[in-house]
Amino acid sequence: MAGYLRETDFVMVEEGFSTRDLLEELTLGASQATTEEVAAFFVADLGAVVRKHFCFLKCLPRVRSFYAVKCNSSPGVLKVLAELGLGFSCANKAEMELVQHIGVPASKIIYANPCKQIAHIKYAAKHGVQLLSFDNEMELAKVVKSHPRARMVLCVATEDSHSLSRLSLRFGASLKSCRHLLENARRDHVEVVGVSFHIGSGCPDPQAYAQSIADARLVFEMGAELGHRMHILDLGGGFPGVEGAKVRFEEIASVINSALDLYFPEGCGVDILAKLGRYYVTSAFTLAVSIIAKKEVLLDQPGREEETGSAPKTIMYHLSEGVYGIFNSVLFDNTCPTPILQKKPSTDQTLCCSSLRGPAASGCDCIAEGLWLPQLHVGDWLVFENMGAYTVGMGSLLRGAQTCRITYAMSRVAWEALQGQLLPAEQDEDAEGMCKPLSCGWEITDTLCMGPVFTPASIM
Ligand code: PLP
Repeated sequence: MAGYLRETDFVMVEEGFSTRDLLEELTLGASQATTEEVAAFFVADLGAVVRKHFCFLKCLPRVRSFYAVKCNSSPGVLKVLAELGLGFSCANKAEMELVQHIGVPASKIIYANPCKQIAHIKYAAKHGVQLLSFDNEMELAKVVKSHPRARMVLCVATEDSHSLSRLSLRFGASLKSCRHLLENARRDHVEVVGVSFHIGSGCPDPQAYAQSIADARLVFEMGAELGHRMHILDLGGGFPGVEGAKVRFEEIASVINSALDLYFPEGCGVDILAKLGRYYVTSAFTLAVSIIAKKEVLLDQPGREEETGSAPKTIMYHLSEGVYGIFNSVLFDNTCPTPILQKKPSTDQTLCCSSLRGPAASGCDCIAEGLWLPQLHVGDWLVFENMGAYTVGMGSLLRGAQTCRITYAMSRVAWEALQGQLLPAEQDEDAEGMCKPLSCGWEITDTLCMGPVFTPASIM
Protein backbone atom coordinates (compact mmCIF):
# COMPACT_ATOMS: atom_id res chain seq x y z
CA MET A 1 0.00 0.00 0.00
CA ALA A 2 1.30 3.44 -0.88
CA GLY A 3 -0.58 5.01 2.05
CA TYR A 4 -2.85 7.44 0.21
CA LEU A 5 -6.01 5.81 1.61
CA ARG A 6 -6.37 4.72 5.24
CA GLU A 7 -8.97 2.62 7.01
CA THR A 8 -10.14 5.74 8.83
CA ASP A 9 -11.09 7.40 5.53
CA PHE A 10 -14.16 5.19 5.04
CA VAL A 11 -16.71 2.98 6.76
CA MET A 12 -15.66 -0.66 6.49
CA VAL A 13 -18.72 -2.59 5.40
CA GLU A 14 -18.77 -6.14 6.73
CA GLU A 15 -20.45 -9.08 5.07
CA GLY A 16 -24.23 -8.92 5.33
CA PHE A 17 -24.32 -5.13 5.50
CA SER A 18 -24.69 -3.04 2.36
CA THR A 19 -24.30 0.60 1.34
CA ARG A 20 -28.08 0.57 1.13
CA ASP A 21 -28.28 -0.24 4.86
CA LEU A 22 -25.77 2.52 5.49
CA LEU A 23 -27.83 4.97 3.50
CA GLU A 24 -30.98 4.03 5.39
CA GLU A 25 -29.17 4.56 8.69
CA LEU A 26 -27.92 7.95 7.55
CA THR A 27 -31.30 9.18 6.31
CA LEU A 28 -32.88 8.07 9.57
CA GLY A 29 -30.19 9.92 11.53
CA ALA A 30 -30.65 13.02 9.38
CA SER A 31 -34.43 12.95 9.87
CA GLN A 32 -34.03 12.73 13.64
CA ALA A 33 -31.34 15.42 13.83
CA THR A 34 -32.32 18.45 15.87
CA THR A 35 -30.78 20.96 13.47
CA GLU A 36 -33.30 22.50 11.11
CA GLU A 37 -31.01 22.46 8.08
CA VAL A 38 -31.94 19.66 5.65
CA ALA A 39 -29.16 18.66 3.37
CA ALA A 40 -28.46 16.24 0.61
CA PHE A 41 -25.69 13.72 1.09
CA PHE A 42 -23.85 11.00 -0.79
CA VAL A 43 -22.84 7.48 0.07
CA ALA A 44 -19.81 6.54 -2.03
CA ASP A 45 -18.87 2.92 -2.48
CA LEU A 46 -15.10 2.99 -2.95
CA GLY A 47 -15.17 -0.77 -3.52
CA ALA A 48 -17.05 -0.07 -6.74
CA VAL A 49 -14.16 2.15 -7.86
CA VAL A 50 -11.64 -0.61 -7.06
CA ARG A 51 -13.74 -3.11 -8.96
CA LYS A 52 -13.89 -0.79 -12.00
CA HIS A 53 -10.13 -0.50 -12.05
CA PHE A 54 -9.62 -4.26 -11.95
CA CYS A 55 -12.08 -4.52 -14.81
CA PHE A 56 -10.08 -1.87 -16.71
CA LEU A 57 -6.79 -3.74 -16.17
CA LYS A 58 -8.34 -6.94 -17.39
CA CYS A 59 -9.96 -5.46 -20.51
CA LEU A 60 -7.30 -2.95 -21.59
CA PRO A 61 -4.00 -4.51 -20.50
CA ARG A 62 -1.88 -2.29 -22.76
CA VAL A 63 -3.40 0.98 -21.55
CA ARG A 64 -2.22 3.02 -18.55
CA SER A 65 -5.09 4.67 -16.73
CA PHE A 66 -5.23 8.33 -15.75
CA TYR A 67 -8.22 9.79 -13.90
CA ALA A 68 -9.89 13.00 -15.14
CA VAL A 69 -10.07 14.94 -11.86
CA LYS A 70 -12.77 17.34 -13.10
CA CYS A 71 -15.24 14.45 -13.10
CA ASN A 72 -15.28 14.09 -9.30
CA SER A 73 -12.48 15.49 -7.19
CA SER A 74 -13.73 14.32 -3.80
CA PRO A 75 -10.87 13.20 -1.53
CA GLY A 76 -11.97 9.57 -1.14
CA VAL A 77 -12.03 9.09 -4.91
CA LEU A 78 -8.64 10.72 -5.45
CA LYS A 79 -7.07 8.70 -2.64
CA VAL A 80 -8.42 5.32 -3.73
CA LEU A 81 -7.35 5.93 -7.31
CA ALA A 82 -3.90 7.10 -6.22
CA GLU A 83 -3.68 3.94 -4.13
CA LEU A 84 -4.49 1.91 -7.23
CA GLY A 85 -1.56 3.60 -8.96
CA LEU A 86 -3.44 5.75 -11.46
CA GLY A 87 -2.07 8.98 -12.87
CA PHE A 88 -4.20 12.14 -12.86
CA SER A 89 -5.39 14.37 -15.66
CA CYS A 90 -5.91 17.92 -14.41
CA ALA A 91 -7.70 20.79 -16.13
CA ASN A 92 -6.31 23.66 -14.04
CA LYS A 93 -4.08 24.73 -11.18
CA ALA A 94 -6.66 23.91 -8.48
CA GLU A 95 -6.81 20.31 -9.65
CA MET A 96 -3.03 20.00 -9.83
CA GLU A 97 -2.79 21.40 -6.29
CA LEU A 98 -5.45 18.99 -5.08
CA VAL A 99 -3.70 15.85 -6.29
CA GLN A 100 -0.27 17.10 -5.26
CA HIS A 101 -1.70 17.84 -1.83
CA ILE A 102 -2.51 14.14 -1.32
CA GLY A 103 1.05 13.27 -2.33
CA VAL A 104 0.80 12.38 -6.01
CA PRO A 105 4.15 13.09 -7.71
CA ALA A 106 4.27 15.55 -10.64
CA SER A 107 5.43 12.73 -12.93
CA LYS A 108 1.95 11.21 -12.62
CA ILE A 109 0.09 14.39 -13.57
CA ILE A 110 -0.94 15.61 -17.01
CA TYR A 111 -2.16 19.17 -17.44
CA ALA A 112 -4.70 18.30 -20.10
CA ASN A 113 -6.58 21.40 -21.10
CA PRO A 114 -6.20 23.05 -24.48
CA CYS A 115 -7.24 26.41 -22.94
CA LYS A 116 -4.76 27.16 -20.19
CA GLN A 117 -4.30 30.26 -18.06
CA ILE A 118 -0.74 31.57 -18.18
CA ALA A 119 -0.54 31.55 -14.36
CA HIS A 120 -1.54 27.89 -14.38
CA ILE A 121 1.09 27.03 -17.00
CA LYS A 122 3.66 28.73 -14.76
CA TYR A 123 2.39 26.71 -11.80
CA ALA A 124 2.90 23.51 -13.83
CA ALA A 125 6.44 24.60 -14.76
CA LYS A 126 7.31 25.44 -11.14
CA HIS A 127 5.87 22.22 -9.73
CA GLY A 128 7.35 19.79 -12.22
CA VAL A 129 4.26 18.98 -14.29
CA GLN A 130 5.83 18.37 -17.69
CA LEU A 131 3.10 16.92 -19.86
CA LEU A 132 0.65 19.49 -21.29
CA SER A 133 -1.87 19.34 -24.14
CA PHE A 134 -2.55 21.86 -26.91
CA ASP A 135 -4.63 22.20 -30.06
CA ASN A 136 -3.74 25.63 -31.48
CA GLU A 137 -0.91 28.08 -32.10
CA MET A 138 -1.85 30.50 -29.32
CA GLU A 139 -1.52 27.77 -26.70
CA LEU A 140 1.81 26.76 -28.16
CA ALA A 141 3.03 30.36 -27.92
CA LYS A 142 1.93 30.61 -24.27
CA VAL A 143 3.80 27.41 -23.42
CA VAL A 144 6.96 28.54 -25.30
CA LYS A 145 7.03 31.61 -23.05
CA SER A 146 5.97 30.17 -19.71
CA HIS A 147 7.05 26.53 -19.74
CA PRO A 148 9.70 26.03 -22.44
CA ARG A 149 10.65 22.59 -21.14
CA ALA A 150 7.11 21.25 -21.37
CA ARG A 151 6.45 18.12 -23.37
CA MET A 152 3.36 18.64 -25.44
CA VAL A 153 0.57 16.31 -26.51
CA LEU A 154 -1.35 17.39 -29.60
CA CYS A 155 -5.08 17.09 -29.02
CA VAL A 156 -6.82 16.00 -32.25
CA ALA A 157 -10.54 16.45 -33.01
CA THR A 158 -12.70 13.35 -33.48
CA GLU A 159 -15.84 12.55 -35.41
CA ASP A 160 -18.14 12.74 -32.36
CA SER A 161 -21.38 13.84 -34.02
CA HIS A 162 -23.25 10.85 -32.53
CA SER A 163 -22.01 11.33 -28.98
CA LEU A 164 -24.45 12.67 -26.39
CA SER A 165 -21.94 15.15 -25.09
CA ARG A 166 -19.55 16.41 -27.77
CA LEU A 167 -16.11 17.80 -27.06
CA SER A 168 -14.69 18.15 -30.56
CA LEU A 169 -17.03 21.05 -31.33
CA ARG A 170 -14.72 23.18 -29.18
CA PHE A 171 -11.52 21.19 -28.66
CA GLY A 172 -9.07 19.37 -30.86
CA ALA A 173 -7.10 20.32 -33.96
CA SER A 174 -8.37 19.11 -37.32
CA LEU A 175 -6.14 16.58 -39.10
CA LYS A 176 -5.51 19.25 -41.75
CA SER A 177 -4.04 21.69 -39.25
CA CYS A 178 -1.82 19.15 -37.46
CA ARG A 179 1.16 19.43 -39.84
CA HIS A 180 1.23 23.20 -39.48
CA LEU A 181 1.07 22.95 -35.67
CA LEU A 182 3.82 20.34 -35.59
CA GLU A 183 6.00 22.54 -37.86
CA ASN A 184 5.48 25.55 -35.62
CA ALA A 185 6.34 23.51 -32.55
CA ARG A 186 9.55 22.35 -34.25
CA ARG A 187 10.44 25.94 -35.18
CA ASP A 188 9.90 27.06 -31.57
CA HIS A 189 11.89 24.09 -30.17
CA VAL A 190 8.85 22.70 -28.41
CA GLU A 191 8.88 18.95 -27.97
CA VAL A 192 5.65 17.28 -29.17
CA VAL A 193 5.64 13.80 -27.66
CA GLY A 194 2.23 12.46 -28.48
CA VAL A 195 -1.35 12.67 -29.62
CA SER A 196 -4.60 12.68 -27.66
CA PHE A 197 -8.28 12.65 -28.54
CA HIS A 198 -11.66 12.39 -26.82
CA ILE A 199 -14.60 10.82 -28.64
CA GLY A 200 -17.16 12.61 -26.43
CA SER A 201 -19.43 11.01 -23.87
CA GLY A 202 -22.28 8.66 -24.63
CA CYS A 203 -20.81 7.63 -27.98
CA PRO A 204 -23.03 4.89 -29.44
CA ASP A 205 -20.37 3.49 -31.76
CA PRO A 206 -17.09 2.07 -30.41
CA GLN A 207 -15.65 2.27 -33.94
CA ALA A 208 -15.16 5.97 -33.17
CA TYR A 209 -12.18 4.91 -31.03
CA ALA A 210 -10.78 2.81 -33.89
CA GLN A 211 -11.12 5.73 -36.33
CA SER A 212 -9.38 8.12 -33.92
CA ILE A 213 -6.57 5.63 -33.31
CA ALA A 214 -6.07 5.39 -37.08
CA ASP A 215 -6.02 9.21 -37.31
CA ALA A 216 -3.51 9.36 -34.48
CA ARG A 217 -1.24 7.01 -36.45
CA LEU A 218 -1.20 9.53 -39.31
CA VAL A 219 -0.29 12.35 -36.92
CA PHE A 220 2.49 10.21 -35.42
CA GLU A 221 3.91 9.77 -38.93
CA MET A 222 3.70 13.51 -39.62
CA GLY A 223 5.45 14.21 -36.33
CA ALA A 224 8.21 11.70 -37.01
CA GLU A 225 8.82 13.20 -40.48
CA LEU A 226 9.30 16.57 -38.84
CA GLY A 227 11.69 15.22 -36.23
CA HIS A 228 9.39 14.95 -33.19
CA ARG A 229 9.94 11.90 -31.01
CA MET A 230 6.35 10.84 -30.54
CA HIS A 231 5.78 8.11 -28.01
CA ILE A 232 2.48 8.83 -26.19
CA LEU A 233 -1.00 7.98 -27.43
CA ASP A 234 -3.82 9.20 -25.18
CA LEU A 235 -7.23 7.63 -25.85
CA GLY A 236 -9.13 10.20 -23.71
CA GLY A 237 -12.33 9.30 -21.87
CA GLY A 238 -15.97 8.75 -22.76
CA PHE A 239 -16.18 5.20 -21.41
CA PRO A 240 -19.61 4.40 -19.90
CA GLY A 241 -20.00 4.64 -16.13
CA VAL A 242 -23.20 2.68 -15.67
CA GLU A 243 -24.18 -0.88 -16.17
CA GLY A 244 -26.76 -1.22 -18.89
CA ALA A 245 -25.14 1.48 -21.05
CA LYS A 246 -25.94 1.13 -24.75
CA VAL A 247 -22.41 0.04 -25.51
CA ARG A 248 -20.64 -1.99 -22.84
CA PHE A 249 -17.12 -1.19 -21.68
CA GLU A 250 -15.93 -4.67 -22.67
CA GLU A 251 -17.17 -4.12 -26.22
CA ILE A 252 -15.36 -0.78 -26.50
CA ALA A 253 -12.20 -2.34 -25.06
CA SER A 254 -12.26 -5.09 -27.64
CA VAL A 255 -12.52 -2.56 -30.51
CA ILE A 256 -9.67 -0.53 -29.00
CA ASN A 257 -7.43 -3.58 -28.55
CA SER A 258 -7.87 -4.58 -32.19
CA ALA A 259 -7.15 -1.04 -33.41
CA LEU A 260 -4.07 -0.79 -31.20
CA ASP A 261 -2.78 -4.11 -32.55
CA LEU A 262 -3.21 -2.76 -36.06
CA TYR A 263 -1.88 0.77 -35.72
CA PHE A 264 0.29 0.66 -32.59
CA PRO A 265 1.34 -3.00 -32.24
CA GLU A 266 2.99 -4.25 -29.10
CA GLY A 267 6.69 -3.39 -29.04
CA CYS A 268 6.22 -0.22 -31.16
CA GLY A 269 7.54 1.85 -28.27
CA VAL A 270 4.38 3.90 -27.80
CA ASP A 271 3.02 4.39 -24.30
CA ILE A 272 -0.79 4.08 -24.50
CA LEU A 273 -2.85 5.89 -21.90
CA ALA A 274 -6.45 6.93 -21.33
CA LYS A 275 -8.01 9.65 -19.16
CA LEU A 276 -11.19 8.26 -17.73
CA GLY A 277 -13.70 10.14 -15.64
CA ARG A 278 -17.26 8.84 -15.49
CA TYR A 279 -16.18 5.21 -15.95
CA TYR A 280 -14.68 5.13 -12.47
CA VAL A 281 -17.16 7.08 -10.39
CA THR A 282 -20.68 7.22 -11.82
CA SER A 283 -22.09 4.06 -10.26
CA ALA A 284 -20.12 4.39 -7.02
CA PHE A 285 -22.10 7.40 -5.75
CA THR A 286 -25.66 7.33 -4.44
CA LEU A 287 -27.38 10.55 -3.46
CA ALA A 288 -30.06 11.10 -0.81
CA VAL A 289 -32.03 14.35 -1.12
CA SER A 290 -34.93 15.50 0.98
CA ILE A 291 -38.18 17.07 -0.13
CA ILE A 292 -38.33 20.66 1.09
CA ALA A 293 -41.66 21.80 -0.40
CA LYS A 294 -44.70 20.38 -2.16
CA LYS A 295 -47.47 21.87 -4.27
CA GLU A 296 -50.35 20.55 -6.39
CA VAL A 297 -50.66 22.30 -9.76
CA LEU A 298 -52.74 21.93 -12.91
CA LEU A 299 -51.13 19.51 -15.33
CA ASP A 300 -51.46 21.70 -18.42
CA GLN A 301 -50.53 24.92 -16.62
CA PRO A 302 -47.60 24.05 -14.40
CA GLY A 303 -47.20 26.65 -11.69
CA ARG A 304 -50.94 27.40 -11.41
CA GLU A 305 -52.50 25.97 -8.32
CA GLU A 306 -55.54 23.76 -8.62
CA GLU A 307 -58.79 25.55 -7.73
CA THR A 308 -61.72 23.27 -8.61
CA GLY A 309 -60.35 19.90 -7.52
CA SER A 310 -61.44 18.23 -10.77
CA ALA A 311 -58.83 19.18 -13.38
CA PRO A 312 -55.91 16.83 -13.96
CA LYS A 313 -53.11 17.81 -11.67
CA THR A 314 -49.49 17.11 -11.03
CA ILE A 315 -47.64 17.22 -7.75
CA MET A 316 -44.53 19.36 -7.75
CA TYR A 317 -41.92 18.34 -5.19
CA HIS A 318 -39.04 20.71 -4.54
CA LEU A 319 -35.78 19.08 -3.47
CA SER A 320 -32.87 20.68 -1.65
CA GLU A 321 -30.67 20.21 -4.76
CA GLY A 322 -31.41 21.08 -8.37
CA VAL A 323 -29.99 21.48 -11.86
CA TYR A 324 -27.82 24.42 -10.82
CA GLY A 325 -26.03 22.08 -8.39
CA ILE A 326 -25.78 18.33 -8.14
CA PHE A 327 -28.34 17.65 -10.86
CA ASN A 328 -26.46 19.71 -13.47
CA SER A 329 -26.18 16.52 -15.57
CA VAL A 330 -29.82 17.14 -16.56
CA LEU A 331 -28.65 20.25 -18.43
CA PHE A 332 -25.22 19.15 -19.60
CA ASP A 333 -25.51 15.39 -20.06
CA ASN A 334 -29.19 14.92 -20.98
CA THR A 335 -29.72 12.58 -18.03
CA CYS A 336 -33.15 11.75 -16.57
CA PRO A 337 -32.59 11.18 -12.85
CA THR A 338 -35.08 8.68 -11.47
CA PRO A 339 -35.56 8.37 -7.73
CA ILE A 340 -35.72 5.28 -5.60
CA LEU A 341 -38.27 5.51 -2.81
CA GLN A 342 -37.36 4.38 0.66
CA LYS A 343 -40.81 3.08 1.53
CA LYS A 344 -42.46 0.67 -0.87
CA PRO A 345 -46.02 1.92 -1.56
CA SER A 346 -48.78 -0.55 -0.77
CA THR A 347 -50.66 -1.97 -3.76
CA ASP A 348 -53.81 0.04 -2.96
CA GLN A 349 -51.91 3.32 -2.75
CA THR A 350 -52.76 5.75 -5.56
CA LEU A 351 -49.88 6.92 -7.70
CA CYS A 352 -49.91 10.57 -8.78
CA CYS A 353 -48.28 12.28 -11.71
CA SER A 354 -45.37 14.11 -10.14
CA SER A 355 -42.42 16.32 -11.01
CA LEU A 356 -39.20 16.97 -9.14
CA ARG A 357 -37.78 20.45 -9.02
CA GLY A 358 -34.75 22.05 -7.41
CA PRO A 359 -34.75 24.78 -4.77
CA ALA A 360 -34.23 27.70 -7.17
CA ALA A 361 -37.23 29.85 -7.96
CA SER A 362 -36.49 29.35 -11.63
CA GLY A 363 -38.55 27.69 -14.34
CA CYS A 364 -35.44 25.88 -15.55
CA ASP A 365 -34.72 24.13 -12.25
CA CYS A 366 -36.56 20.97 -13.30
CA ILE A 367 -34.99 17.62 -12.43
CA ALA A 368 -37.65 15.20 -13.69
CA GLU A 369 -41.24 15.27 -14.91
CA GLY A 370 -43.94 12.70 -15.58
CA LEU A 371 -43.04 10.41 -12.70
CA TRP A 372 -45.77 8.30 -11.12
CA LEU A 373 -45.20 8.40 -7.40
CA PRO A 374 -47.24 7.76 -4.24
CA GLN A 375 -48.05 10.83 -2.12
CA LEU A 376 -44.77 11.98 -0.57
CA HIS A 377 -44.25 14.50 2.19
CA VAL A 378 -41.94 17.35 3.09
CA GLY A 379 -38.98 15.77 4.88
CA ASP A 380 -39.14 12.48 2.94
CA TRP A 381 -35.90 11.35 1.35
CA LEU A 382 -35.44 10.40 -2.28
CA VAL A 383 -32.48 8.33 -3.35
CA PHE A 384 -30.72 8.56 -6.72
CA GLU A 385 -28.18 6.05 -7.96
CA ASN A 386 -25.34 6.61 -10.45
CA MET A 387 -24.64 10.13 -9.26
CA GLY A 388 -20.83 10.11 -9.14
CA ALA A 389 -19.89 11.91 -12.36
CA TYR A 390 -19.75 15.70 -12.65
CA THR A 391 -21.81 16.16 -9.48
CA VAL A 392 -19.35 16.54 -6.60
CA GLY A 393 -15.95 18.09 -6.43
CA MET A 394 -16.79 20.35 -9.31
CA GLY A 395 -15.46 22.56 -6.53
CA SER A 396 -12.05 22.36 -8.13
CA LEU A 397 -13.52 24.43 -10.93
CA LEU A 398 -15.76 26.51 -8.71
CA ARG A 399 -13.14 27.55 -6.17
CA GLY A 400 -13.64 24.81 -3.65
CA ALA A 401 -17.38 25.17 -3.11
CA GLN A 402 -18.50 21.80 -1.79
CA THR A 403 -22.03 21.52 -0.56
CA CYS A 404 -22.73 17.88 0.15
CA ARG A 405 -21.45 15.55 2.79
CA ILE A 406 -20.00 12.30 1.42
CA THR A 407 -19.82 9.11 3.48
CA TYR A 408 -17.32 6.72 1.95
CA ALA A 409 -17.76 2.98 2.37
CA MET A 410 -15.91 -0.09 1.22
CA SER A 411 -16.48 -3.79 1.77
CA ARG A 412 -13.73 -5.67 3.57
CA VAL A 413 -13.21 -7.89 0.54
CA ALA A 414 -12.59 -4.82 -1.65
CA TRP A 415 -10.21 -3.36 0.93
CA GLU A 416 -8.22 -6.59 1.03
CA ALA A 417 -8.15 -6.77 -2.76
CA LEU A 418 -6.88 -3.18 -2.85
CA GLN A 419 -4.18 -3.90 -0.29
CA GLY A 420 -2.97 -6.89 -2.25
CA GLN A 421 -3.72 -5.18 -5.60
CA LEU A 422 -4.95 -8.64 -6.55
CA LEU A 423 -8.24 -9.89 -7.80
CA PRO A 424 -9.90 -12.36 -5.47
CA ALA A 425 -9.36 -15.79 -7.06
CA GLU A 426 -12.94 -16.49 -8.04
CA GLN A 427 -13.19 -13.15 -9.81
CA ASP A 428 -10.21 -13.70 -12.01
CA GLU A 429 -12.12 -15.85 -14.44
CA ASP A 430 -13.89 -13.25 -16.49
CA ALA A 431 -14.23 -9.51 -16.42
CA GLU A 432 -17.99 -9.86 -16.03
CA GLY A 433 -17.73 -11.79 -12.78
CA MET A 434 -15.17 -9.34 -11.54
CA CYS A 435 -17.71 -6.58 -11.67
CA LYS A 436 -19.82 -7.89 -8.80
CA PRO A 437 -18.71 -9.09 -5.38
CA LEU A 438 -16.28 -6.30 -4.51
CA SER A 439 -18.96 -3.68 -4.18
CA CYS A 440 -21.11 -3.27 -1.12
CA GLY A 441 -24.08 -5.02 -2.65
CA TRP A 442 -26.95 -2.87 -3.86
CA GLU A 443 -29.78 -5.17 -4.73
CA ILE A 444 -31.67 -5.02 -7.98
CA THR A 445 -34.66 -2.77 -7.39
CA ASP A 446 -38.26 -3.29 -8.40
CA THR A 447 -39.55 -0.70 -10.78
CA LEU A 448 -42.77 1.17 -10.85
CA CYS A 449 -43.67 1.73 -14.45
CA MET A 450 -47.21 2.96 -14.83
CA GLY A 451 -47.38 4.15 -18.39
CA PRO A 452 -45.33 4.08 -21.55
CA VAL A 453 -44.64 7.79 -21.73
CA PHE A 454 -43.52 8.29 -18.16
CA THR A 455 -40.19 7.68 -16.52
CA PRO A 456 -40.34 4.87 -13.98
CA ALA A 457 -39.42 5.45 -10.38
CA SER A 458 -38.06 2.53 -8.43
CA ILE A 459 -38.35 1.28 -4.91
CA MET A 460 -35.47 0.95 -2.52
N1 PLP B 1 -10.19 13.98 -20.93
C1 PLP B 1 -10.60 15.21 -21.28
C2 PLP B 1 -9.68 16.10 -22.03
C3 PLP B 1 -11.87 15.66 -20.94
O1 PLP B 1 -12.26 16.88 -21.29
C4 PLP B 1 -12.73 14.79 -20.22
C5 PLP B 1 -14.07 15.21 -19.85
O2 PLP B 1 -14.60 16.22 -20.28
C6 PLP B 1 -12.27 13.53 -19.85
C7 PLP B 1 -11.01 13.15 -20.24
C8 PLP B 1 -13.14 12.55 -19.10
O3 PLP B 1 -14.23 12.17 -19.85
P1 PLP B 1 -15.27 11.08 -19.32
O4 PLP B 1 -15.79 11.54 -18.02
O5 PLP B 1 -16.31 11.01 -20.38
O6 PLP B 1 -14.51 9.79 -19.21
